[in-house]
Amino acid sequence: MKQFNYFFALLFYFFSVNYLPVRGAGHNPELFSDSIRLKQDTLKTYLVWLQKQVIREELNKLALDLLKQAVTYTDVYQVLRITRWDASLMRSIPALVPLRYAQIKNFRISSGFGFRKHPVKGDNMFHGGIDIPAPNGTPVYAVADGIVSRSVKYHNSLGNFVQLNHYNGFITYYGHLLRFIVHPGQSVKQGQIIGYVGESGLTTGNHLHYILIKNGLALDPYPFCFLMYERYKAEEKLAKSSQSSFSK
Ligand SMILES: [Zn+2]
Repeated sequence: MKQFNYFFALLFYFFSVNYLPVRGAGHNPELFSDSIRLKQDTLKTYLVWLQKQVIREELNKLALDLLKQAVTYTDVYQVLRITRWDASLMRSIPALVPLRYAQIKNFRISSGFGFRKHPVKGDNMFHGGIDIPAPNGTPVYAVADGIVSRSVKYHNSLGNFVQLNHYNGFITYYGHLLRFIVHPGQSVKQGQIIGYVGESGLTTGNHLHYILIKNGLALDPYPFCFLMYERYKAEEKLAKSSQSSFSK
């Protein structure tokens, strides 16, 4: 649609420059040429603006394609950088610490993503998420906008858990909950409370087991927890650089 606008604006520009009659022509030749120049300038500005809009729209389309195909944290980070941390994209990407009490710059995890000795079973097993220790009853937040796909009670290993499906192939799980307060089919917003930390299921203590899936594969959710902070830092940097360019 924007391309059409662009095309017609271009057409109108050439038409107006070459053929449009100007009122008062002949009486005051100086005024006549000035008004034409003014019109040309306005149109040129409008065309540049249109061109920028078209480029921005194309870039956003490209970024969305990249986000759908992204397989690593770095891919996702690049998309956000390209779109200058687009606010609506941010809401669709797991970008929060699921426990808000945790410091945004740094917070403790009791077990990371990857192979480890299982704390209960003792054998070397793959740990498909991160464990964030927290007191029983600590609120658990949805890390992105999404739909509650499952809320399961008394699962053998995950205990009471919630599964959220997000846009662009993201799925998140929140395990070992004391209880959850959402039901399947319900839509949730980023930062909305979905349940409370507990120690249900196969666990040695109260903590949140947080899993992040992208296009069917488990990713390390840890770096994703800092995306909101990264955005804040990027915006601060942008504000500073525009300030310094003003003061020059
Ligand atoms: Zn765990």
